[in-house]
Amino acid sequence: MLGMTSLMRALPLAVLAACALPAAPIKVLIIDGQNNHRWQETTPVLKRLLESTGKFQVDVATAPPKNSDISGFQPEFRNYKVVLLNYNGQDWPPATMAAFEKYVREGGGVVSYHAADNSFPNWKEYNRMTALGGWEARTTGKDGPYARFRDGKLVTVADPGRCGNHGARLPFQVTMRNPSHPISKGLPQVWMHEKDELYDRLCGPAQNMTLLATAHSDPNNRGTGEHEPMLFTVSYGKGRVFHTTLGHDVEAMRCVGFITTLQRGAQWAATGKVTIPVPKDFPTADKVSTRSE
Ligand code: ZN
Repeated sequence: MLGMTSLMRALPLAVLAACALPAAPIKVLIIDGQNNHRWQETTPVLKRLLESTGKFQVDVATAPPKNSDISGFQPEFRNYKVVLLNYNGQDWPPATMAAFEKYVREGGGVVSYHAADNSFPNWKEYNRMTALGGWEARTTGKDGPYARFRDGKLVTVADPGRCGNHGARLPFQVTMRNPSHPISKGLPQVWMHEKDELYDRLCGPAQNMTLLATAHSDPNNRGTGEHEPMLFTVSYGKGRVFHTTLGHDVEAMRCVGFITTLQRGAQWAATGKVTIPVPKDFPTADKVSTRSE
């Protein structure tokens, strides 16, 4: 054990070192390998978008293909500050699921990206972490209420029904609902998102959520006529979860609004703070802004 005197000698040196060195990058683990989306295309984009900030170092854990032996899939979650889920597939081995629950409960960060909220319909704790999910036979009766933005606040609505739907991919406006949150601070209140799926009728435990952004789901495009949650955070134990429903494909991921909220959401999930600035080419209320990279 370190004695008190040597501890006091060592302390100023540690402080000095912390000030002199650039901050170590945030270690992120992307999980993919099974998804009804093109994870082979989107994972490299996610990795590049995060690493381009200079604030992240990203590894990828690819699960074996569907219906093969997945028993050896055991990523070392604890080596990472954030686990980004680009995964919509079969259940992980029980030990891996338990390790993930422990990781988040003890303060690990999570980013739930697009169809990750379709995954694991029967894994109760996962659905508590994502707060809302859809498809995979989810119903409000079995899985929890819908969550809507009505009269200036997030409400749950326990109407009976199936969960998870979207219309044709079109550009749509995203409205920020919590301008003082670190992820949303400085963003325009309304911005036009590039052509994407607008998820509606998501349902789930819907607890410990902080709503950041909604979009109006157009009844003329098979929507609900409601303001549906698009971006939100969830607290789970000591862990922070950033949930983005956006980013169906690489085209939607070119949106500077998607890019900025992903980067800031990941940094917030890791640290609880955001230092990544709002870029000058951020979309406006009526104009999409994309980057071709
Ligand atoms: Zn999709």
